[in-house]
Amino acid sequence: MAWEVTRSCNLNCVHCRASSEKGSYEGELDRAKAMEILDQIALAGRPIVILSGGEPLLRPDIFDLARHGTGLGLRMVMATNGTSLHPASPGDKGIGH
Ligand code: SF4
Repeated sequence: MAWEVTRSCNLNCVHCRASSEKGSYEGELDRAKAMEILDQIALAGRPIVILSGGEPLLRPDIFDLARHGTGLGLRMVMATNGTSLHPASPGDKGIGH
């Protein structure tokens, strides 16, 4: 299942189906509610959960959500626009660590 965890994005593509724009949005699910939704998904089944957006890496809690889902036995993946990714350097433990 694809879950648009945020409408915020650092880009503003004219073709965006999520109507994403820069900035934060009122009414976006907070961390507690998002965790609760993952709990409910895990009760219903074990789908692959695609964290999408917007740009999911703009959510400060995105790796908490991914970790929580993994702990529930869900296969968590992310659909990022890639603009925050960079080649690993020696000693780099990756984004968000
Ligand atoms: S979510 Fe994707 S399509 Fe939409 S503005 Fe961001 S990069 Fe573009």
